[in-house]
Amino acid sequence: MLVDLHVHTNVSSRCSSVQPEELVERARELGLDAVCVTEHSTYRGAQVNYEYALERGFKVFRGMEVYTELGDMLVFGWEEHIRYYLFPFADLKREVEKRKGVIIPAHPCRGVADARHRHRHGIPDGLLESIFALETHNGAMTRKSNDEAERIRQEYGLFGVGGSDAHHVSHIGRCVTVFDDEPSNEEELMEALRTGRYRAAYMEEIRGFGGGSGQD
Ligand SMILES: [Zn+2]
Ligand SMILES: [Zn+2]
Repeated sequence: MLVDLHVHTNVSSRCSSVQPEELVERARELGLDAVCVTEHSTYRGAQVNYEYALERGFKVFRGMEVYTELGDMLVFGWEEHIRYYLFPFADLKREVEKRKGVIIPAHPCRGVADARHRHRHGIPDGLLESIFALETHNGAMTRKSNDEAERIRQEYGLFGVGGSDAHHVSHIGRCVTVFDDEPSNEEELMEALRTGRYRAAYMEEIRGFGGGSGQD
């Protein structure tokens, strides 16, 4: 099952121009089986997109992307609207654990060349104990940044996910997560994420195998 796990739309992300109808149309065109809408600091946009897509028979998972002092986090299982832009990681961890949700660091190596983000070469202890996967394939990052994330993933023995981080319709599906299972809702998605039965990939690689939609 092919899922773009990280997409922004203009419903709640002002930085994105993607409209719900474009999202569904483009995802179908690409042969994606689902997308996960992860707006900045709110679950609302995901909910709107979920409802829109549901009526049209397409699967949208609901998540969000939360900005913390330890970097951006993809969050599943927490339906919230955060007022403050920078959310303390300790608070995020507490809220998400309470709900048995999932936290996956997004683009963990963004700004890796920047001296101020030197810790991005590794994973801070406080973060490592709260995660089991990293976003190793992010469609908005350079190949170098993604390669570094993949290196860290291997070093720490974590799982890896992929998502486009699309803010424009043409960027949807650049990176995907290929699931062995077929999660049909967020509960099953989180369960699938915990099992590690998936891999991150660039859409080019998938196309190279001659198919647009899921594998058997
Ligand atoms: Zn981000
Ligand atoms: Zn993002």
